[in-house]
Amino acid sequence: MTSFDRLQIKLGNRSYNIMVGANLLNIAGKKISETIGKTSCWVVTDENVSKHYLTPLMHSLKKSELRASAIILLPGEENKRIETVQQIVDKVLGEAPDRDSTLIALGGGVVGDITGFAASIILRGINFVQIPTTLLSQVDSSVGGKTGVNTTQGKNLLGTFYQPKLVLADITVLETLPLRDRISGYAEIVKYGLIRDKNFYLWLEENGKKIISLDSAACQEAVKKSCLIKGEVVAADEKEEGHRALLNFGHTFGHALEKETGFNTSLLHGEAVSLGMIMAITLSIKLGVCSQSVLDRVQKHFQKIGLPTKPSKNGGDFWNPEILINNMTFDKKRRKGRIAFILLNEIGDAFISNDVNLLDVKQLLENLINNPHAN
Ligand code: NAD
Repeated sequence: MTSFDRLQIKLGNRSYNIMVGANLLNIAGKKISETIGKTSCWVVTDENVSKHYLTPLMHSLKKSELRASAIILLPGEENKRIETVQQIVDKVLGEAPDRDSTLIALGGGVVGDITGFAASIILRGINFVQIPTTLLSQVDSSVGGKTGVNTTQGKNLLGTFYQPKLVLADITVLETLPLRDRISGYAEIVKYGLIRDKNFYLWLEENGKKIISLDSAACQEAVKKSCLIKGEVVAADEKEEGHRALLNFGHTFGHALEKETGFNTSLLHGEAVSLGMIMAITLSIKLGVCSQSVLDRVQKHFQKIGLPTKPSKNGGDFWNPEILINNMTFDKKRRKGRIAFILLNEIGDAFISNDVNLLDVKQLLENLINNPHAN
């Protein structure tokens, strides 16, 4: 039985539907052919995801008479690089695609970001469908059209804005996702409540644990609500010329931390964002725009869920505040030489500040890093 919610991202002729529900993989072929027509497909996935979900997806595509071949990547953030895009491009161009061909990303944010990038450059753009399989990719990376890969200089520094034609978020596939990845993905869900919607945040305080333990009603509600909030923000500012930057709450700090770990599994993306959100709230308090009670409340919730709230040692060493600030100055969100910080007035009310004094940031980092038990 397949029951789902359908949302639309409104972007004129680039509008698309997001379907959220259980067992959507079984009807993927039908939904793709209804949306795109009789297209030839390449399914891009990784070794972990393919074990569980490639066969059912291929079966569903075949049932709808869609011709498909598979490209199986090595998993992990460290493979989110231009060489992996080249691997996809070589395979697809070698099999004579045309402008109506489709790349289907079956996987987490890494597979989605790489595949979207490849789809945007093959023949100057072919169809792209997202079938996100992690909590993070269902609530965040599969929606909004940001694609890209990391370079030695930093995270996501090569990429495009390229919208999918369809997103199928099948919550059933979360059953095989390791607990640590589920908790990491939750960081992006709670971010929406913190920046935009206090009622959603309050709902998460009540229901967050259910999401982590994969209660299907709670998961479906959380994925739907997250996509709704992200969709509204993206529809108002597709290319991040202003308002969309709010979605980067916690990410300026988080990306700086991730760069130091070399994007390996010692710090997952959502864990870095979790620490980044705590740092952004602490900065907001230091600048006098937010109260300590917000930080106490959020820390309590993160601890209940299992998200990190204090930076622990990085590979046995303490993080270096100077290096972290240096990493931030290379972040692609910088405009006119200034780093944009997303700060919080209160829960549900975030804003963008381009005039934060980096000395304040340095002091804050020194305090948090050298004194990890203090608030
Ligand atoms: P991921 O794609 O690395 O997946 C995490 C791990 O889970 C991988 O080992 C993967 O193989 C495995 N996996 C995926 N689905 C599974 C399943 N159902 N069962 C078992 N194992 C499964 O990580 P992620 O957290 O999904 O994505 C992180 C990436 O998303 C980062 O690169 C980040 O930059 C990117 N991102 C992009 C956007 C955007 O707007 N494009 C937004 C947020 C994050």
